[in-house]
Amino acid sequence: MPGLSAPSCQDADPALFFPAHGLQLRDSQVEAAKRLCAACPVREECLVIAVRSDESDGIWGGTTPAERRRIRGQLARMRQGVKVARAVVSGEEPQVPLADRPAVVHSLLRMGWSAEHIGNALKLTPHQVNGAQVMAARTQELVALMERQYPKGWG
Ligand code: SF4
Repeated sequence: MPGLSAPSCQDADPALFFPAHGLQLRDSQVEAAKRLCAACPVREECLVIAVRSDESDGIWGGTTPAERRRIRGQLARMRQGVKVARAVVSGEEPQVPLADRPAVVHSLLRMGWSAEHIGNALKLTPHQVNGAQVMAARTQELVALMERQYPKGWG
């Protein structure tokens, strides 16, 4: 199709990407598949499709099934963070579980709140706010990827 780049795996052995029935891919197969994915012109699209469609087998977009489960968990936390942050902005005082704190702090920062304002609203010390920011920064690459693929919103 004009305008679409060919995926790197187009002529590759499918056995590199999908294990035989009942077996697992060997580390060497995973590494070889990931090398192809790293150079693939449609890697981001491939990864996002696999994550969103809950592909539970094989290598997609340079990720294993376990890595995609982790990504799905991160995305779910980010969605929850936006939801809780909106509640905070509207004046509610929701309980923020420790695990959700980075996503909530990050969302509030993106909504223009200062670290001090966030600390006051969530009853966090500056150290805790900073720690949450550092944790949230680790998922920024993923957020940027989702925003590139879904400019109108991916939540
Ligand atoms: S990113 Fe997707 S399309 Fe590209 S080589 Fe990997 S599995 Fe194939």
